[in-house]
Amino acid sequence: MEISQTTFAKFDLPVLPFSLDALEPHVSKATLKVHFDKHHRSYVSNLNQEIKESQLTVYTLEDLLQNASRYTDAIRNNGGGHYNHNLFWSILSPEATKPKNKLLHHIVATFKSLDSFKDQFKRTATSHFGSSWAWLVYSNQNELRICSTPNQDNPMMDVSDIRGYPLLGLDLWEHAYYLDYQNRKDEYIESFWQIIDWNEVSNRHKDARRIYKS
Ligand code: MN
Repeated sequence: MEISQTTFAKFDLPVLPFSLDALEPHVSKATLKVHFDKHHRSYVSNLNQEIKESQLTVYTLEDLLQNASRYTDAIRNNGGGHYNHNLFWSILSPEATKPKNKLLHHIVATFKSLDSFKDQFKRTATSHFGSSWAWLVYSNQNELRICSTPNQDNPMMDVSDIRGYPLLGLDLWEHAYYLDYQNRKDEYIESFWQIIDWNEVSNRHKDARRIYKS
């Protein structure tokens, strides 16, 4: 994508698909309020500001991320922040579901069992030092992979070691859990399994299969 001076696209904070207290006791209303209304909002406003100042033509958020190496750190960090939080809210639900059908089969074929997948995901999530995200990724090699990325990076970015389409992501910044769990990051990660809408993760798995045509 070439830098142009003709168009300015504006991104918006999404509407949360549940009320601020809907994920309690796993995520408190206080945590969700500051996380969504302060942190996510600032990624969106900083992204819009940077796009305006850089006079970029932006087609989609995905375009920005896929070409992250060509943009400023502010675009990478805030664009990633906006995408990652959109994804995060979309896969959370007070009505947790279970993985099934093609997604479940793919997870079991790759990681041997759902429990084994969760163990590996937890190991990756706990071992990343500093602010990060842990991911289940549909890689551009048509494989399911678990990885973590620093800051607000994600596997869609051209700077990521593992490239692909993120299916499920867990925010491991302290702002996501510190009010509720303090230093007990393990408990925060465990609680994540109680509030995942696997139907949405399945939708993303379907999207990824279409993107990579497996
Ligand atoms: Mn966050």
